[in-house]
Amino acid sequence: MTVPFEGGCKCGAVRYTCTAEPMAAVHCQCRDCQKDSGSGHASHLMVPKPALAISGDPSFYDYAADSGNTVTRGFCGVCGVWVYSQNSCMPDALFPTAGSLDDPEIFKPQMVVFASRATSWDYLDPELPRMAEMPDAAGGGK
Ligand SMILES: [Zn+2]
Ligand SMILES: [Zn+2]
Repeated sequence: MTVPFEGGCKCGAVRYTCTAEPMAAVHCQCRDCQKDSGSGHASHLMVPKPALAISGDPSFYDYAADSGNTVTRGFCGVCGVWVYSQNSCMPDALFPTAGSLDDPEIFKPQMVVFASRATSWDYLDPELPRMAEMPDAAGGGK
């Protein structure tokens, strides 16, 4: 990916600029991503926390993920769009959502995680590696 890249919510109240290459890019089919996205999966980048400059005033929602970690979802309190996540087990990373990118086409997914939770109707590229759960040090913030 070309850096820096930018993104934000729908109304523009929450924006970000990322100055580092993502460490990972995944589709996550866990139940939390299904709930949060309103569909069969969510798509995330994993970036170094110091490289992601966030402007605006995101709202936060914490929950316990299946892994036992606390996941914090950052979203716009005005338009409700989910912009990024944090995970207590990876304090040095942030997970912007692929859909929040100004140019979502720059997202290049590398794998599917939590494929064990996939719904029968959520079709993803069969060429991508699939992990039944979450591999170490990769993933979508869950
Ligand atoms: Zn907004
Ligand atoms: Zn997930």
